[in-house]
Amino acid sequence: MFLKRIEIMGFKSFADRTHIDFTDGITALLGPNGCGKSNIVDAMKWVLGEQSTKNMRAEKMEDVIFNGTDERKALNVAEVTLIISNEENLLDLDLSEISIKRRLYRNGDSEYFVNNTLVKLKELRELFYDTGIGKSAYSIMEQGKIDQVLSNKPEERRYLFEEAAGITRFKMKGSEAERK
Ligand code: ATP
Ligand code: MG
Repeated sequence: MFLKRIEIMGFKSFADRTHIDFTDGITALLGPNGCGKSNIVDAMKWVLGEQSTKNMRAEKMEDVIFNGTDERKALNVAEVTLIISNEENLLDLDLSEISIKRRLYRNGDSEYFVNNTLVKLKELRELFYDTGIGKSAYSIMEQGKIDQVLSNKPEERRYLFEEAAGITRFKMKGSEAERK
């Protein structure tokens, strides 16, 4: 399983439809300060369901929509798509390629899609349980994340081990059942 492609449109500094194809090995994104490198990582976290505006470096979620420049007017919708290779069927869908899309309108309406079918955020999250992918899993290691993991309370750190051990799915189902 690996990330094949990201498509960004109207998200943060990416006013134009932009895509990046990832191939085997290491991809480095280079550019001057403020050119949008971190915005690409933000886009990856966002499409995986990030709800924290702080983690998006924004005051309110609508701030992730391209807000215009001197030459260009603001847009009303942001959209990010990830294309993930699923050759080994690690994601529980019988497809060799899976697309995940999130869309946000300036009026606050938000939509998630898996292979262009509208889904609830919860369904999208369930697809990624125990895969290491997800907004708080370990596939995205940002600056400071390792320090954070080391200094977290043991019960918070346990989350990463549970994810790696493949039991997040059962824990989430358990706590849902308790609530019922
Ligand atoms: P550095 O090397 O300093 O870490 P970077 O390449 O990671 O820089 P980013 O943080 O990705 O840069 O991009 C910051 C830029 O994104 C700023 O110029 C900011 O104005 C722009 N930006 C952020 N949100 C929006 C938005 N909603 N609309 C338009 N531009 C935005
Ligand atoms: Mg940066």
